[in-house]
Amino acid sequence: MSGLPRLEDLGSLQGRSVLVRVDFNVPLSHGIDGTAEISDDLRIRAALPTLRWLLQQGANVNACTHLGRPQGVPEQRFSVTPLRQRLAELAPGVELLENLRFNPGETANDPAFVTELVAGHDIYVNDAFGASHRAHASIVGPPQFLASASGRLLAREVEVLSGLRDAPRRPFVAVLGGAKVSDKLGVIDALLEMVDALVIGGAMCFTFLAAQGHRVGASLYEDSMVQHCKQLLNGDTVIHLPEDLTVLGPGGVLGDPDAGGEVRQVGADVPDGWIGTDIGPGSAAAFSDVICSAGTVLWNGPMGVFEDPRFGGGTGAVAAAMAETRAFTVVGGGDSAAAARHFGVDRDMDHVSTGGGATLELIEKGDLPGLAALRDSTTKNSTTRDS
Ligand code: ADP
Ligand code: MG
Repeated sequence: MSGLPRLEDLGSLQGRSVLVRVDFNVPLSHGIDGTAEISDDLRIRAALPTLRWLLQQGANVNACTHLGRPQGVPEQRFSVTPLRQRLAELAPGVELLENLRFNPGETANDPAFVTELVAGHDIYVNDAFGASHRAHASIVGPPQFLASASGRLLAREVEVLSGLRDAPRRPFVAVLGGAKVSDKLGVIDALLEMVDALVIGGAMCFTFLAAQGHRVGASLYEDSMVQHCKQLLNGDTVIHLPEDLTVLGPGGVLGDPDAGGEVRQVGADVPDGWIGTDIGPGSAAAFSDVICSAGTVLWNGPMGVFEDPRFGGGTGAVAAAMAETRAFTVVGGGDSAAAARHFGVDRDMDHVSTGGGATLELIEKGDLPGLAALRDSTTKNSTTRDS
């Protein structure tokens, strides 16, 4: 799938007014006096190729984004002021509208808010991949009224992620982890149709291990998902589960090594009262082998509670194998991208997706509301193109 209108399709931009939807929903840290600081500006930098290109073409560029979850009214702590300061350094000349979610019309996709947004603009560009799974006003509204195109970041995301669905180099392996099976059920089902093997770690492995009859102790696990996991394990696709685990004993606290609690290596059964916190070293080696003999690897979800240094071994090993393998490597998911950076391998990946929910939904469904809106807008453009 693509057929998305591109920046080059927009014709001359000299003196034209362009509304660019970006995803600057960056993590902020707040001082006691209420001032906010950007703790990671990756999402701002990711939009620079599009913003700078538009400036070079002589366009007047107005960017817009949501930030955090204000409930449709202005709130000082969600103001885009710190973003404006950073943007003024990185792409001087680009204006940034105030937080879209200060207006309830954004999430409600209110036509009146769309009218307000497009007023005074000639052209719309969507470079907010991470928000394109939402049918919000700024994502699906403007393409109905303005000549529209996909930005560089969005186009690259769609090219890579659609490529995984359409023509992956085989064997295609998906490595899944993270918190919950239920969060990712849709994408797991879809991936089982696409991949040659699924590798499962993280908290979600305990629901699968329980489905195999293993004891899970006090690990995170979802009783309501056990039946479904049994069916998946009986399907045609190879599913690799950990055969050893790192576990934390009673009294231990995740993220607080000083709180005590014993850490142990066990097999695939977690003792009563203990918590499974990481895959074990044997599984880390086995998973690394699968990654290193793949043609394509999609990684979503940490293998353990990597934020706690006692339980980062499995995620670190997978990160190292992702850097080592000759496979085409894609990382998706906010915490997984953070893990890739934490272990210093983000630059070794072929693609680190900037989306969370959007990444998984595009892999699962092959399309997103924001992409469909861009494709439908093609008739509004003055120039013709083949799709
Ligand atoms: P992503 O954002 O990459 O999609 P998730 O949000 O699904 O990933 O999950 C990430 C979180 O899962 C991490 O914060 C990690 O601490 C947690 N996690 C991984 N393994 C376990 C485990 N065994 N027990 C509890 N939490 C876990
Ligand atoms: Mg997450």
